[in-house]
Formats: sequence, structure tokens, C-alpha cells
Amino acid sequence: MDIAARPDDPGVEELARSIYALFPRCMRCGGTIASYEDADVRILSNRVVHRGRCAADERAAEAERDRSPELDS
Ligand SMILES: [Zn+2]
Repeated sequence: MDIAARPDDPGVEELARSIYALFPRCMRCGGTIASYEDADVRILSNRVVHRGRCAADERAAEAERDRSPELDS
């Protein structure tokens, strides 16, 4: 099941917050993410990036991976 498709589930929120607590730095630009509200937590990939530009870059990178899964290995 795609848990990212259940944003209203309090378990998803809790999971996202604990992932942010473990990874308070942006995995795209390397900068510190000041607060959970500024973080875009990608639960399924366990990645945390800034909201906004870094999240847009992350989505673009994910789309790129989805298009060419054979390049992952
Ligand atoms: Zn960032």
C-alpha cells in the first residue's frame, strides 16, 4: 500500500516526524532544515529535503528514476 497516499493517517504524520528527527539535514542541498514545517519528508524513500525548490528537484529525480529503473543496479 502506498502510505504516502494516506496523508490523514496520524501514523504517517508520526512516521514523517520521526524521520525528520533522524535526518534534520536536506539530502539535496546538505543544509540544515530549520523545522519540521520546512521539511518535505519522503516516507517511502526515507529521504528528507527542504520544501519548495529542493522538493521539486527531488520529485524530478524520482520521476527520472521511475523512467529508467534498469539504470539503478
Ligand atoms: Zn535543501
